[in-house]
Amino acid sequence: MSGEDCIFCKIVSGEIPAEIVSTTDHTVAFRDLDPQAPTHVLVIPKRHEPDIGSLAAADPDATIALLAEARQIATKEGNGSYRLVFNTGADAHQTVFHCHAHVLAGRELGWPPG
Ligand code: 5GP
Ligand code: ZN
Repeated sequence: MSGEDCIFCKIVSGEIPAEIVSTTDHTVAFRDLDPQAPTHVLVIPKRHEPDIGSLAAADPDATIALLAEARQIATKEGNGSYRLVFNTGADAHQTVFHCHAHVLAGRELGWPPG
């Protein structure tokens, strides 16, 4: 999928509304529509890459910025415990093919994941 048809690119451009938590030079963070924890924020790179592996290969600076911003949000909203999830590929429940980190915090998180 190209950036043109991508819902997360449309959130970056402002074409689709979202509850924005933060923006940086490289990233936008917004609350998930269907939260799975008291804090459930998606941190995405502004540039369209389908997953974290392709972002890391294409743009190390944006990858580091994404991880740093995820930590910032988790620290601000949580008690220091949080989970970062990158569902990668359809069999791993990736449904939006624009790289995104799920930042989950605010409750005890079970293991193993489903
Ligand atoms: P995935 O399953 O690809 O790892 O996660 C995609 C996430 O995006 C899901 O948790 C879903 O609830 C969220 N999502 C999908 N569409 C939208 C949207 O238009 N706005 C927001 N805020 N979240 C969305
Ligand atoms: Zn996109």
